[in-house]
Amino acid sequence: MIGVTVLGSTGSIGVNTLDVLARHSDKYRAVALTANSDVAKMLEQCRACLPDYAVMAEEAAAEALASRLRQAGLGQINVLSGAAGLVQVASMPETDCVMAAIVGAAGLLPSLAAAKSGKRILLANKEALVMSGKIFMDEVRSNNAVLLPVDSEHNAIFQSMPANYAGDMTASGVRQILLTASGGPFRSCELGELDTVTPEQACAHPNWVMGRKISVDSATMMNKGLEVIEACWLFNAEPSQIQVVIHPQSVIHSLVDYVDGSVLAQLGSPDMRTPIANALAWPARIDAGVNKLNLFDVARLDFEVPDLERFPCLRLAYEAMQQGGTAPAILNAANEIAVDAFLNKSLKFTAIASVVEKTMKAVQLQEVTSLEQVLAADAEARSVARALLQ
Ligand code: NAD
Ligand code: MG
Repeated sequence: MIGVTVLGSTGSIGVNTLDVLARHSDKYRAVALTANSDVAKMLEQCRACLPDYAVMAEEAAAEALASRLRQAGLGQINVLSGAAGLVQVASMPETDCVMAAIVGAAGLLPSLAAAKSGKRILLANKEALVMSGKIFMDEVRSNNAVLLPVDSEHNAIFQSMPANYAGDMTASGVRQILLTASGGPFRSCELGELDTVTPEQACAHPNWVMGRKISVDSATMMNKGLEVIEACWLFNAEPSQIQVVIHPQSVIHSLVDYVDGSVLAQLGSPDMRTPIANALAWPARIDAGVNKLNLFDVARLDFEVPDLERFPCLRLAYEAMQQGGTAPAILNAANEIAVDAFLNKSLKFTAIASVVEKTMKAVQLQEVTSLEQVLAADAEARSVARALLQ
């Protein structure tokens, strides 16, 4: 049995992961589940999966869970709490494979712990790579961890790259990576309407059902910007080697352009269980419960150049990656604060990009030489962004 720790099991990716695991209970077992504060959902998942460990990031939630588990006759499940609990289940020997699906910077330390302990990491938490790409990739390499992308675009690129790709695009005959984007819910609305859009409108993604933070990121296209940075680290690419392509149908999940003129792509129904199952079973293939793609129903595929006036966050992310050092961590932190304020209705949608841009100008860039530096840049950017909200 392969022991899987699911970090962020109560979220959108977490729930999809448990669905795939349940289809293959002869091969996989959830050894640990983790969540922030949703005790009811965690209790339900514990009943269904019977993990060895359940971790709640919030202390009070962990206490509540422990007592509910005892009442339910599930007192054998060990309940842990806080960042230390997350790190413990990401690195313990019973864990063969870690699904990193916590949202935001909170996912960095447990994902890094999985890398340090040489696990097979299924990476959904793109913010970890954006913040500390160099440190993360170095830990993966030096501890022989296996890093498999779950983000649908990066999983598509991974599937379309040469087998055993070792990080040299030129030597592999790869000319460019084409990163597809749906364009989100505001791809074609009047620009003037963007000032007044609500969190509900921003979270109503045309093709994917996702957590609220990534849904807002998709609406601003910061998500695609974070994905450009993520792709640079995963595939050792320069930002200039990655072209974002708006493809509203979300059927082609990304493409790789080779020097001989071949363009390889991965297609499928927009369902995260495909990249989850792909990363879980790679290099084998397992049933993911996903509907077969019907090309006759799809009928047509459209492509557009992204409009950087409509989507300034995409430009800011390219700039952050070009600047290097702590710039992507600053971008990410400011974005997390701004998106949170937008979701709480204290910031306009169009001000998300301004808060990020002003924070990037205000915080001094540094080379990344340690994790502490990344965490300090993250903290400083958060406090600058919070001050800008006032
Ligand atoms: P979500 O909001 O639905 O779930 C987030 C999970 O993280 C929950 O289990 C929550 O309890 C946990 N969590 C939140 N804050 C935490 C904290 N401070 N400490 C510990 N745990 C915490 O988010 P999601 O949509 O599942 O996305 C998760 C990650 O996967 C994000 O990084 C996102 O960018 C990435 N991703 C998601 C999708 C998707 O389709 N949902 C696709 C690609 C990539
Ligand atoms: Mg994606």
